Amino acid sequence: MEATKILLVDDQRQCLHALQAALEHPGYELVLASSGEAALKALLHHDVAVILMDVEMPGIDGFQTATLIREREKARQIPIIFVTGVMADVQAVFRGYTMGAVDYLLKPLDAHALRAKVSVFVALWHQKREIERTSEALRLAEMRERTYIEALYDVTFEDAPIGIGHASQDGHWVRVNPRLADILGCGREQLLARSFQDVVHPADRGRLLENVGRVASGAEPRHRGQYRFLHADGATLWIALTVSFIRGLNGQAVHLAIVEDISEEKQLALALEASERRFARLREAGLIGIFHEAPDGIITEANVAFLKIIGYTEEEVRAGKLSATLLAAPGYAEVEMRARAELRECGQCATHEKEYMRKDGGRAYVIEGAVTAGDTGAIGFALDVTVTKDAERERARFLSELQESIRVRDDFLNIAAHELRNPLTPLLVQVTNLRAMAARAMTPIEASWLARQLEPVERATIRLARLIESLLDVSRLTVGGVPLELENVDLAATVRDVAERMRPEIQRSECPLTVRTDVPVVGRWDRIRIDEVVANLLSNAVKYGAGKPIEVEVDSDEQEGHICVRDYGIGIPRQDHERIFERFGRAAPLQHYGGFGLGLWIVHRIVEAHHGRVELWSEPGKGSLFTVILPRIPLTEPACEPLGTKEEAWRTSSL
Ligand code: ADP
Repeated sequence: MEATKILLVDDQRQCLHALQAALEHPGYELVLASSGEAALKALLHHDVAVILMDVEMPGIDGFQTATLIREREKARQIPIIFVTGVMADVQAVFRGYTMGAVDYLLKPLDAHALRAKVSVFVALWHQKREIERTSEALRLAEMRERTYIEALYDVTFEDAPIGIGHASQDGHWVRVNPRLADILGCGREQLLARSFQDVVHPADRGRLLENVGRVASGAEPRHRGQYRFLHADGATLWIALTVSFIRGLNGQAVHLAIVEDISEEKQLALALEASERRFARLREAGLIGIFHEAPDGIITEANVAFLKIIGYTEEEVRAGKLSATLLAAPGYAEVEMRARAELRECGQCATHEKEYMRKDGGRAYVIEGAVTAGDTGAIGFALDVTVTKDAERERARFLSELQESIRVRDDFLNIAAHELRNPLTPLLVQVTNLRAMAARAMTPIEASWLARQLEPVERATIRLARLIESLLDVSRLTVGGVPLELENVDLAATVRDVAERMRPEIQRSECPLTVRTDVPVVGRWDRIRIDEVVANLLSNAVKYGAGKPIEVEVDSDEQEGHICVRDYGIGIPRQDHERIFERFGRAAPLQHYGGFGLGLWIVHRIVEAHHGRVELWSEPGKGSLFTVILPRIPLTEPACEPLGTKEEAWRTSSL
């Protein structure tokens, strides 16, 4: 280790040697000076830890030398131990040297005390040197660190792919990096000549200054925002700006601005926004249903139009209650499967027609299409065509009804021709015969013979009259409804009257007839119409009774009167039970049984006008039982309701 230098100053050689001897130590290097001047000189070359100085010396004495030492910057801190024989001198010195390390020793010197004192100052000097060395090392390290950081910052600043600039408090650029100049389209020098505000779009300037002001005032640590800046060529740039406020060591404040050009992203975002707005308009306009279906089939989003089509609420959609399965209407499994396969393979499926099950149980007819939406499922649209479809179906129904009615009309014309010709042929033959006989007759014709000859003529005429009557009824009942003339009518008497009137016909059919009308059943009905009902049922029983017994019965309870007509004839297959009550509805083969198929339709109309009903039991080969049920006191006064629709009227009139 380097020896510690100690300066010994004394004009007397023996004193100097005495000090030298007392302080002899391998760790010390003793520098000797025989005067104040020599001491000052020695201090120019030696860095000493402590000075031992005689007070009384010729020339400049110890005190003066000490004063001169204190004046020197480098030596000011060196502790001085005065060596004197006079106590008074020392006290005076202490008054003058209250600052700095100063001590004294009285002559004759105590070598032990001298060494102890010197060793204390030497130790202090070492400590001080150590501290100085450490702090120097620290300072150097700090400097190196700072230089490194500054270099790092400089490199970062210069090479940063984002714009960085420092601006003074009054907004002038102090330092800008190349990227910032590049973003703003001008050279660095050019930019440094401008202010921060100059490069901001006038429309955003106020907002920016306000926000920067908040950062400068310390209200916010930093500000981030998007602003429009001006490019040197006048174009508008969209910038993501971060501004921080830094106060330097010299107290000067600097705004640090980090500038990112987001014009491209912003243009895209704005374009996207505008496009979204436009599509949102379509989505919200309610013209077309739009929905999103997650991969698990749950409908997660739906616009108002879609909700309207399916009859569910937005809350139900949000709660995840709606799924493709729930909406699927039966009968479209194949369409659905095809659409899903297309969606999987091509990312979209062609528009297809299908039906949704609405919440209210009804069905909505839609045209549907969909595209996949990445991993999130699919987006679909649905156009409600229920009204169009209903109209289409209605048209189809109308068309088929029209075709059916044309078919019925053609059938009817065939039947009518056949039916009318049937009684007409024997009538014509008989009348022609009679005329020929009358022409050939030599003697007057016998009345009983003539009556017999006229019998088939009468029968055929009655049959023709009935046929024509029922044809007229069709038109009357269809166009004008069933006008009723209500009066007190006894069903039992009416049935008996009809049976009596039809006796000859019944006898010809050889069907034994039983009429059970034990008690009168009186109600307010239309006598003629009820008569027509019984006549129609009885003549059918005769016609289809296959010569087997016929039973007619009338009974009642408090509310209703019942007429039952039972035969044991050919019966009616189950599937025809309803149809035979329709206009021209027939079940029996025409070649065996004639008839327009109008009788039961007329029966049904009349009974319906009385608010009653007709019940039928029948089995092929076992016969039929028709029961007419008539309320005794009609609920409302029966009106002359038009019983046919317009088409029915048209059909009838075109027959
Ligand atoms: P029509 O007898 O002139 O054909 P209706 O309207 O009186 O017309 O009867 C309709 C059809 O009902 C008949 O064509 C016949 O097939 C069936 N029908 C009616 N009454 C009976 C019955 N008592 N037994 C078997 N079939 C009957």
